[in-house]
Amino acid sequence: MLPAHCLSKNLVLPLLAGLLSFVSSSAAETVQNLTPLLLTVQDAPIPFNGSDGRVHLVYELWITNFSSGDVTVEKVEVLGDGTVLETLDAAAVAGRLQAAGSREPSGTMAKSTQALLFLHVVLEKGAAVPQALSHRVTEHVSAAPPGFQEITETSAKTKVDRQKVVRIGPPLAGEGFISADSCCDATRHTRAALPVNGRVWVAQRYAVDWEQLDSNQRIYEGTQELRSYTIFGNPVLAVADATVVGLTDGLPEQTPGKFPAIISLDEADGNSVILDLGDHRYAMYAHMQPGSIKVRLHDHVKRGQVIGLVGNSGNSVAPHLHFQVMDGVFSLASNGLPYEIDEFHVTGKTPGTEAFDDAESKGIPVPITAVTPAERLTDSLPLDQLVISFGKE
Ligand SMILES: [Zn+2]
Repeated sequence: MLPAHCLSKNLVLPLLAGLLSFVSSSAAETVQNLTPLLLTVQDAPIPFNGSDGRVHLVYELWITNFSSGDVTVEKVEVLGDGTVLETLDAAAVAGRLQAAGSREPSGTMAKSTQALLFLHVVLEKGAAVPQALSHRVTEHVSAAPPGFQEITETSAKTKVDRQKVVRIGPPLAGEGFISADSCCDATRHTRAALPVNGRVWVAQRYAVDWEQLDSNQRIYEGTQELRSYTIFGNPVLAVADATVVGLTDGLPEQTPGKFPAIISLDEADGNSVILDLGDHRYAMYAHMQPGSIKVRLHDHVKRGQVIGLVGNSGNSVAPHLHFQVMDGVFSLASNGLPYEIDEFHVTGKTPGTEAFDDAESKGIPVPITAVTPAERLTDSLPLDQLVISFGKE
């Protein structure tokens, strides 16, 4: 056996040709392989029912390139209890792997860096939810000697988090709402990994920016003013019987069409309310109108109660309701949790984020594909870019 201090002293990949797979002569099961990528999961996925009738797993695989050269991640297989659930080829990895603090995806990691691979696994209809996940990663390690640069390694197992997903009512009432930037492949919320209070959090992992269409399928009519937006002034509803544990009011409306220049972390949510739903689940509503908040701190609210009006305060480019559920009272320093809305109808779909953004910036109709008859869904999370109606509470 090579003594440990020898390894640490000489851990320079080009010198380690003979060490890439070292098998002890005394015990065949003690195989030692170099694993230049260190693979961990910080927040285990919590399976939930999506509005497509499937169970989804959304989480981040943390990858550290512990080598002295570039590593290209060529393939990632997600294994559920040892069976391949999902295979990401090089192109898929390149679209989902983001270096720490970067919003630009790349399949290649520079030496000595860390990155997050944003994963979204959709289970087959009727398939059992796996107990544990592991990840088989194939990579090209440029610092390894020729002939040893292709390495496949498998992560430790991550136990799937089977905590009960919270069931809630709708945050709005009416029809024509669009679930913009919702789970699971839209990047603005799902990839909002932020270092706050000494840890990286994805509080917005399941957040939705709710917009609303008028009868001509437009988000706003005429010029980009607050009152031109269909959703502006819409009552915002408590999604459950709950206690108000966070409240900000008095922040000004922003001008639609452009992001505010400088805004502090404290003011990013604008006029906002955080409700304690019990059992370490908290619901957060952001960007409401100044002076519109109808509850006070520590109030007990009833499901369906109006808590404020949709506005455009805080870090917001257009009137909308940002809604999320998380495991703590902080809107950013908390882990984002999935939730299921007990009843809603899907009445249409947009072609995707790009078409939505285009329509939003130009004030033209969103090209909706109608779903007729409307699809009634129960106990599921509205996925991205659907047109949804919520019944009167
Ligand atoms: Zn948002």
